[in-house]
Amino acid sequence: MYEGIKDIVSDKVDIIYDEEMSKHTSFKIGGKADIFAVVDSVEDLIQIEKYAKENNIFTFIMGNGSNLLVSDNGIRGIVIKLGDEFKKISVEEEYITVGAACSINALAQFALENELTGFEWAFGIPGSVGGAVFMNAGAYGGSMSDVVFETTYLDENYNLCKLESDKHKFGYRKSVFKTKEINGIILSTKIKLKKGDKKEIWEGMQKYINARIEKQPLNMPSAGSVFKRPDGHFVGKMIEDLGLKGFTIGGAQVSEKHAGFIVNLGDATSKDIKELIKYIQSKVKEKYNVDLETEVLEVGE
Ligand SMILES: Cc1cc2nc3c(=O)[nH]c(=O)nc-3n(C[C@H](O)[C@H](O)[C@H](O)COP(=O)(O)OP(=O)(O)OC[C@H]3O[C@@H](n4cnc5c(N)ncnc54)[C@H](O)[C@@H]3O)c2cc1C
Repeated sequence: MYEGIKDIVSDKVDIIYDEEMSKHTSFKIGGKADIFAVVDSVEDLIQIEKYAKENNIFTFIMGNGSNLLVSDNGIRGIVIKLGDEFKKISVEEEYITVGAACSINALAQFALENELTGFEWAFGIPGSVGGAVFMNAGAYGGSMSDVVFETTYLDENYNLCKLESDKHKFGYRKSVFKTKEINGIILSTKIKLKKGDKKEIWEGMQKYINARIEKQPLNMPSAGSVFKRPDGHFVGKMIEDLGLKGFTIGGAQVSEKHAGFIVNLGDATSKDIKELIKYIQSKVKEKYNVDLETEVLEVGE
């Protein structure tokens, strides 16, 4: 398997065999991916996707790995990560065009430097732009759906396509990419902000980052909020009221600081996290008759 893969791509592609996914996820969990490829051009992306299709191989495109629960058995197939060439960022008046691999934090800093307001809420989300568009990431009343103007992606027939804002079908933590209505690789997005005052933008960013530092267990590996917010309830409060703060299965623990987070105490397996998720879901169902849906995405065998 994977014979000849190095021959079909340029020498700029970094191909790593049997790469531990725990090195690439914010949970610090996940077994080996057969192939981990860091890709820096659309041409190489197309070559890999074609190779995978011809050989019936699964491919998974990852961002920063901050919303992923990769299984202990890893991923049979090719994990693709976009490289530095996809981190480019430019501004034209109130529009910023940014590569999918750029971090949300670098984008927020860039908006600040250019005195553009409307993205402060995102400062502190540890994802990439591609992952944020895919998930319609949001916080403190803002979300990607408020700012995305147009996204460029590669479709499954290897065409470069553009998608206008209203065609993303953004909803709570979802987009047309997440629902697989479009099976595409996000390459870049253009966001529209407004001219603002640099000092006020910086103060806004500080406010949000401080709220995160105060409320979230940022010193421990996690994938952020594990569950989606059900209508009319606060997940953290429900779990806390059940007395589950600090509850542990194996190396997975309901965070002492924020009950909506599960943290890896150091040696957690994906299995531990999944068991803890199931346990929380059953307790919440029993007491509140609420079905908690996961926001974190499971990948792998
Ligand atoms: C401490 C902490 C705090 C967090 N706070 C928040 C928060 O406030 N709000 C929030 O919404 N989330 C939050 N998250 C979760 C996470 O950061 C977001 O979901 C983020 O958008 C995921 O981006 P990523 O680049 O890490 O994507 P990944 O986790 O790598 O991938 C997520 C999904 O996006 C897809 N994807 C990624 N890049 C591409 C691409 N280029 N093309 C197509 N598909 C792609 C992947 O296939 C996968 O299905 C938090 C996580 C942590 C660890």
